[in-house]
Amino acid sequence: MDRILAFYDEVDAEQVILNRRMEDAFDEALRSRQFEVWYQPKYSVDGFSLVGAEALIRWRTPEGYLSPGKFIPLFEKNGMISKLDEYVFAEVCRQQKQWEAEGRKLVPVSVNISRASLYYENIVEKYQNILKEYQLNPEYIQLEITESATIDNSNISHLSSDFHDAGFWLLLDDFGNGYSSLAALNVMHFDTLKLDKSLIDYIGDKNGETLLYHVTKLAQNLGLLVTAEGVETKEQVTFLQEVECNDIQGYYFSKPLPLRDYEKLLSA
Ligand code: C2E
Ligand code: MG
Ligand code: MG
Repeated sequence: MDRILAFYDEVDAEQVILNRRMEDAFDEALRSRQFEVWYQPKYSVDGFSLVGAEALIRWRTPEGYLSPGKFIPLFEKNGMISKLDEYVFAEVCRQQKQWEAEGRKLVPVSVNISRASLYYENIVEKYQNILKEYQLNPEYIQLEITESATIDNSNISHLSSDFHDAGFWLLLDDFGNGYSSLAALNVMHFDTLKLDKSLIDYIGDKNGETLLYHVTKLAQNLGLLVTAEGVETKEQVTFLQEVECNDIQGYYFSKPLPLRDYEKLLSA
């Protein structure tokens, strides 16, 4: 028993030290552009057209890239996430404007907003000001908010109308993951529903497919577009075509790409 406790203590101590190192490195990492925005393409369900991309953060360190799962939960806890979310938003605005100036054909890029960032005062005004600064049309930048963020935030429905007034398109991220709640569709007005990978993994199972069919139709009847996330196989793509899901994001078409690789997809 003592040995088990000692083992857990060691693991905890290691994590505490790692967390402390990441917190200490945060400001400098932000300043020296160690946080890189990668882009994962989204395709129309027929696979023929590039319809958008999702911006996903990576932390470039001397030891290699850290994935968001390693640092986002910490930054959500200590509040640093709002700075990071704002940075990603501004980076994508800047980049989209640059591609526009180069004469490339733009597609909308969605950025993630953490629930913790939503509590931040004046977030809508802040993001609107960044758009203005870069003189970017809001149709080129969309906002992904996770389902869990729509729970227990009484301001959330105001936020969605404020975001809409500012011209933003809102995506309900991770639908079907964990605490799935149909109420999320009612509390806040979204424009696109993103089916979580855990639902997509049901494809091949009869009941799972019935569920997916009805969730897709429910969302579409409520006026939302439906994007499937985490799509990895041909079988999944075929099923999603049958149920007339709108768009697909997943390794089957493309993994998240570093800037220069994604850029090649945007024809000049
Ligand atoms: P998410 O927003 O749901 O993003 C989708 C995640 O699924 C990404 O993981 C993506 O690489 C992964 N994915 C996409 N297609 C497939 C597939 O076919 N198979 C598999 N196995 N995975 C797939 P990633 O990049 O590790 O990001 C994880 C999460 O971290 C994101 O989930 C998002 O919640 C969060 N995140 C990433 N960037 C940001 C950011 O700038 N701000 C905030 N607040 N959160 C972020
Ligand atoms: Mg997302
Ligand atoms: Mg997601």
